[in-house]
Amino acid sequence: MEQRRAVVVGAGIGGLTAAVALLRDGWQVTVLERAADLAPVGAGIGLAPNSQRALDVIGLGDRVRELAAWQGDGGMRAPDGRWLARTDAKAAAARFGGPLVLLHRATLVEILTSALPEGTVRTGAAATLADPGDDHRPARLTTPEGEIEAELVVAADGIRSAIRHALFPEHPGTRYAGCTTWRVVVPAPARPFAPHETWGAGRLWGTQPLKDGRVYAYAMAAAPAGGRAPDDERAELLRLFGDWHHPVPEILAAVDPGQVLRHDVHHLPDPLPAFHRGRVALLGDAAHAMMPSLGQGGNQAIEDAVVLAHHARSGPGFDPAGALPAYTADRLPRTTAIVRKAARTGAVTLLSARPAVALRSALVGAVSRFGPGLVLRGFDGIADWRPPVAPARPA
Ligand SMILES: Cc1cc2nc3c(=O)[nH]c(=O)nc-3n(C[C@H](O)[C@H](O)[C@H](O)COP(=O)(O)OP(=O)(O)OC[C@H]3O[C@@H](n4cnc5c(N)ncnc54)[C@H](O)[C@@H]3O)c2cc1C
Repeated sequence: MEQRRAVVVGAGIGGLTAAVALLRDGWQVTVLERAADLAPVGAGIGLAPNSQRALDVIGLGDRVRELAAWQGDGGMRAPDGRWLARTDAKAAAARFGGPLVLLHRATLVEILTSALPEGTVRTGAAATLADPGDDHRPARLTTPEGEIEAELVVAADGIRSAIRHALFPEHPGTRYAGCTTWRVVVPAPARPFAPHETWGAGRLWGTQPLKDGRVYAYAMAAAPAGGRAPDDERAELLRLFGDWHHPVPEILAAVDPGQVLRHDVHHLPDPLPAFHRGRVALLGDAAHAMMPSLGQGGNQAIEDAVVLAHHARSGPGFDPAGALPAYTADRLPRTTAIVRKAARTGAVTLLSARPAVALRSALVGAVSRFGPGLVLRGFDGIADWRPPVAPARPA
């Protein structure tokens, strides 16, 4: 029987995971990536038990856990260092059936690409959708090397997805979420610290350890779209966070201004009518870009990829009319709910009026006195997700 051909557009976390999942199911897979190389942004990524279970399905969960730093005991603090709520790694693992882990994005990309045969990913290959195809004719993509036909196209082309716009031109698209983010990776501070996320007025800062002795720190603040510091982004961080508790000043002292990543946050508050059309399936940020407040954008892209491969597998031949509506039915309601929850959580973290901030701190403190489980409840229904397929057996 001729091998089915899938073309994945975009070699981000979602596209690479889809490529591994489809390849394991016997598809011939090509990944087209517009960028000249796969160097991911210099930042960490948190993976919750939900996406780790999806990675278990494609045999990569253990590798991820091995190369990740466990999120130890830590919690939420106020800028002066007061603990508002403690999180407990054991309680999280017991509640969600596994640990919350953090690894460098480059490590995750390396794990995913090492599961793909050489030549699967073609860089410097921007693709345009020429025809989404249907039950009777293949989809077609235009690439620098000419036109390609595919039985399945996976549109993993990120938040500014041109394929999403081509499939759903009436959809309003992304919207600015009212805030900007900064990310840095620096050597661990000399003085010990506990992993934390600290909420101030209209801004937050988080610090998490990486496995290799460095730390990943991220910050978010309400800001107009497109703003940039008049001098440099490290100076901006010093103005906003320089007097916050340890380890924030020590981390800022170690930051090279040229390595601070700053990105405005955009999201897709209006859900798409479907995650597919013809023979094209959208996944990851292309399908459901969300605020980073729950740390679930990449997690959901990984879930999408494994669920898509599962639906594409059923039957002897690929039946887009059966598989892709099933994929949409599986993924659209779940991710819509998470996009909304991320927006609600983002709004709470960005509260800036003094009475609202005081009330928020008091409520978080009161809730946490009943035990760490209450704080973790925000991830119920998200981190406890299980894939529709059993984990891969070790080779
Ligand atoms: C500050 C911040 C912190 C975050 N923290 C977390 C976290 O802790 N955990 C988590 O799960 N998520 C987190 N996220 C979200 C996460 O980064 C994204 O949801 C995830 O990276 C999306 O992956 P993707 O594969 O869908 O898209 P992307 O990673 O954006 O990949 C899309 C790829 O498609 C390529 N491309 C685009 N157009 C074309 C074309 N025409 N042809 C070929 N290639 C094309 C692009 O070059 C890119 O490589 C965070 C986001 C931010 C902003």
